[in-house]
Amino acid sequence: MSAKSIAISFIVAFLSNGLSSQSFVSKTTEHNTKPIAMKDETTGVDTQEKAFSVFPAANELFCDDIRPQIQNIIDRHGMEEWRYGVLTNEMHGHLGIYAIIGMKMGLRALDELSADHDHIEIISYAGIQPPISCLNDGLQVSTGATLGHGLIRISDEEIKRPEATFIHDGKNITLRLKRSSWEKISQDVRAAIEMHGALTDPYWKLIRKHAIQYWAEWDRNEIFEIVKE
Ligand SMILES: [Zn+2]
Repeated sequence: MSAKSIAISFIVAFLSNGLSSQSFVSKTTEHNTKPIAMKDETTGVDTQEKAFSVFPAANELFCDDIRPQIQNIIDRHGMEEWRYGVLTNEMHGHLGIYAIIGMKMGLRALDELSADHDHIEIISYAGIQPPISCLNDGLQVSTGATLGHGLIRISDEEIKRPEATFIHDGKNITLRLKRSSWEKISQDVRAAIEMHGALTDPYWKLIRKHAIQYWAEWDRNEIFEIVKE
């Protein structure tokens, strides 16, 4: 089996069984919109020093297709989502839909649990096969719950899905991408494969276009459902 046909079979398997639903157990939690600490509210800069003293957002530093969306993303979703979106894409190696969704899901979880970056644990149900497992990269970047810190693990449950449980300070919450959003993504991926063939250059170009659009347009406070007991 060639690498291409293995990759195609991953995608086909995902499209055919990825939308099956199942019920999961989690504790409910109060909604809390408290901003994440360790962050300068004016600049959005994390005050725990790492590499950047100020996070870049100047047009000329970014790719042509991202430039028109920079201000839009910052205005709609905040400096923090801009920052973690950029870092997710750089780390992930391409501008992918599920990586962006994972980044948004992680930030939503920090809000819900009033948790700081680096102070949360994650159990992901997204598996280890792309494209859905790309979620795991966005989750790690936006929350700081990295493999390196031993704060994220991937559930071996059979049904892979864009869902994760977040644990902080004795509380937990499980977030899942809403079915309507998941179906939209699945349709877009399927259409890209039909139009260009899986994992071809034009396929990646189209996926990138969708990922930028979702980053700019999809609100992390709306696209996830809280999975209750
Ligand atoms: Zn990816």
